[in-house]
Amino acid sequence: MTAHDAHDHHGHDHEEASELSETELRVRAIQTILVEKGYTDAAAVDAIVEAYETKIGPHIGARIVARAWTDPEFRQALLTDASKAAAPFGYQGKIGDHLVVVENTPKRHNMVVCTLCSCYPWDVLGLPPVWYKSFAYRSRAVKEPRAVLAEFGVTVPSDTAIHVWDSTAEVRYMVLPERPSGTEGWTEEQLAALVTRDSMVGTDVLRVRGNIPA
Ligand code: FE
Repeated sequence: MTAHDAHDHHGHDHEEASELSETELRVRAIQTILVEKGYTDAAAVDAIVEAYETKIGPHIGARIVARAWTDPEFRQALLTDASKAAAPFGYQGKIGDHLVVVENTPKRHNMVVCTLCSCYPWDVLGLPPVWYKSFAYRSRAVKEPRAVLAEFGVTVPSDTAIHVWDSTAEVRYMVLPERPSGTEGWTEEQLAALVTRDSMVGTDVLRVRGNIPA
């Protein structure tokens, strides 16, 4: 047995763990404590991670948007109580407790940020993109939304107001983008294929690009 093998988890030899980032170390430590105290087990954590990697993603939000475009009653229900209306679309029927859907119109463009950290509507959009968590986006989205949008290649007409929604741990926002022209008669499935993740965060504006999706 080498000295390295003998080192246990309570030792002060951090040589092996030093390849992990500080965040990874903290996550590992928190998970270890939760498992040791019996609050969760490793299999449950693995199942959650797997769900977010393979089952939960922006395709859920896209289906909600497509339904709202084609079903006025659903659209109204969604804008009134998104958590309730969107529940049937969720993975195992789970949609955030307080999901709020905000609708883009020719008069108003909505954009979502979490200035404090990275709150995001995980249940409908999956894992947040790296830029969403960046300090630059978080600090600039509120102050200069048009400049930020321009960097995403999005130009919002000057007579369209921009409303920036600051997410919290309690309330998560999703944007209902405008249905692009040229999509009349499309099926819900074709429409859903057109909806990008960024359009539901408000950093993309949808248009028909090329062929109708199959
Ligand atoms: Fe946050």
